Amino acid sequence: MASEMAVALSGRRNFSKPKNWQMASVSEVIIETPETKTLRLALVDSDGFLPGQYYNIRIPVEGRPRPIQRAYSIGSSPLPDASVIDVGIRDTPGGLVSPVLVHQVSPGDQLEVRGPYGNFTWTERDGGPVLLVGAGSGVVPLMSMIRYQIQKGSSQPMHLLFSSKSYEFAIYGDELGELATAYDWLTVSHTFTRDSADERARFSRRIDKEMVAEILPEINARLSYICGPPEMVECVEQALVGLGMHPDSVKTEKYD
Ligand SMILES: Cc1cc2nc3c(=O)[nH]c(=O)nc-3n(C[C@H](O)[C@H](O)[C@H](O)COP(=O)(O)OP(=O)(O)OC[C@H]3O[C@@H](n4cnc5c(N)ncnc54)[C@H](O)[C@@H]3O)c2cc1C
Repeated sequence: MASEMAVALSGRRNFSKPKNWQMASVSEVIIETPETKTLRLALVDSDGFLPGQYYNIRIPVEGRPRPIQRAYSIGSSPLPDASVIDVGIRDTPGGLVSPVLVHQVSPGDQLEVRGPYGNFTWTERDGGPVLLVGAGSGVVPLMSMIRYQIQKGSSQPMHLLFSSKSYEFAIYGDELGELATAYDWLTVSHTFTRDSADERARFSRRIDKEMVAEILPEINARLSYICGPPEMVECVEQALVGLGMHPDSVKTEKYD
């Protein structure tokens, strides 16, 4: 009950209370794919969060006068414990922050974080059916929504359309397969952009308008959440609105 209150209240508090930087302890590092790791962070100060929100992380970078910050979505559910958050980070080659977080952080380290932020959120009160569309690490906040619904025990139909290079690069690939088997309300369609032979994928190309047009009637979605590279997000958003979904029902998060 206390945790549910934290979730319910966090939506209000997120917009009113100024957030401070805090030191979080890295309690676990989980290898998700060859380029992505989950960092499990224990927060000292937590007001809860809503599924889909993100935290900022900042680190010192040699040659820079101030720490450099980046946004990372929370992949875990706020239930049962919103004071522990999982962030799923993909190594962007040549990047200032993500290669350090992926390759140089170990359990026991401390990281400076601030949050939660963002309006790209879903709870059972938003209803469904819900179409979730993610590419690469864009699946992270969508996974928070799925994991939250499991913890909450609600059963709004959700379909995840998820683009990865191949199954090896599909973040949470095994877990998503197990969850889709365990829960009737969840279906997953993979598309692999660099592997056309894998039968676990329904499609083998980038997400496009035709794919969206094929899937939308199957789930009869009332709401959609799209997350990932800006061009994919814009393409899917346009497709959904073109297919008759109200623009207010299409929520987007662009990983610029
Ligand atoms: C709301 C939100 C949530 C996000 N959530 C996640 C998440 O859950 N997981 C995740 O992995 N990412 C997420 N991101 C993306 C993340 O914030 C970073 O943008 C990403 O990790 C890259 O940061 P970086 O510091 O490693 O790379 P950057 O230093 O920002 O560099 C990005 C790219 O630009 C190139 N580049 C940089 N400077 C130049 C230059 N001068 N000329 C040419 N090229 C250049 C780099 O080589 C690199 O390829 C999110 C973004 C947003 C906005």
